[in-house]
Amino acid sequence: MAEHKARKRFGQNFLQDTRIINDIVDAVRPEPDDVVIEIGPGLAAITEPLARNLKQLHVVEIDRDIIARLKRLPFAGKLVIHEGDVLQLDFRSIPGMKKIVGNLPYNISTPLLFELVEVADEVVDMHFMLQKEVVERMVAEPKTNDYGRLSVVLQYYFEMEKILDVPPESFDPAPKVDSAVIRMIPNSGRIGVADDFAQLSRLLQHAFQQRRKTLRNNLKQWVSDEDFAAVGIEPTLRAEHVAPEQYVQLSNHLLRQGV
Ligand code: SAM
Repeated sequence: MAEHKARKRFGQNFLQDTRIINDIVDAVRPEPDDVVIEIGPGLAAITEPLARNLKQLHVVEIDRDIIARLKRLPFAGKLVIHEGDVLQLDFRSIPGMKKIVGNLPYNISTPLLFELVEVADEVVDMHFMLQKEVVERMVAEPKTNDYGRLSVVLQYYFEMEKILDVPPESFDPAPKVDSAVIRMIPNSGRIGVADDFAQLSRLLQHAFQQRRKTLRNNLKQWVSDEDFAAVGIEPTLRAEHVAPEQYVQLSNHLLRQGV
């Protein structure tokens, strides 16, 4: 097939390291009947070995040239191609419990992760290649600099584990940053406990807005000392000192108060 020139605006850094590709596919462990969705198949580095073990593979791709190439692949008959922006995809329209995989375009990874939280109840597991710095924020513990809104929301919904560090040379073109692969498994006992995800998300946005300020200050328009007391959070703490489950308790309490 003709050469494809990597497009920066679509975050195209193609995997070329066979060892890393094999490690990712081994981590996913596709079984023939699994419902697997690959985000951004690109030149099919992961797609091909994944499809080998599957009856069918869903792929989501935005680049029309790449879509045309995918349709010409020898195993194209196994692919269900969703053309367009993954941020617009209704994951629930694909029936079944899903395994989601992707060497993600780094410019959309954070909004995508926030969206995936909302379909966590239909997910078996997810394996993503991300900027290493994002992976570190995802798994960060309270009281560290990396701990923020992303850590709280994702840790509340998923068990997460970094499974692989990936250097820039594993890609063509090589990105300027280090990468890592993370495994995310829904935290089934906890799903649904946040009564209103939008409310929780808004609360976290405000709580972490100015990291050096206290929670009382950042949330003063919204949360009274009585509200903090009701869920046992000390209002003089900074946002990074509060655990994910405490934020969920506060969000649910506010909802009950009609805030
Ligand atoms: N999976 C391939 C690999 O590992 O070599 C390509 C990975 S490349 C980092 C990201 C892929 O996502 C590209 O194929 C790109 O065209 C696609 N992509 C970028 N933005 C997208 C979007 N918003 N929705 C769907 N696909 C997107």
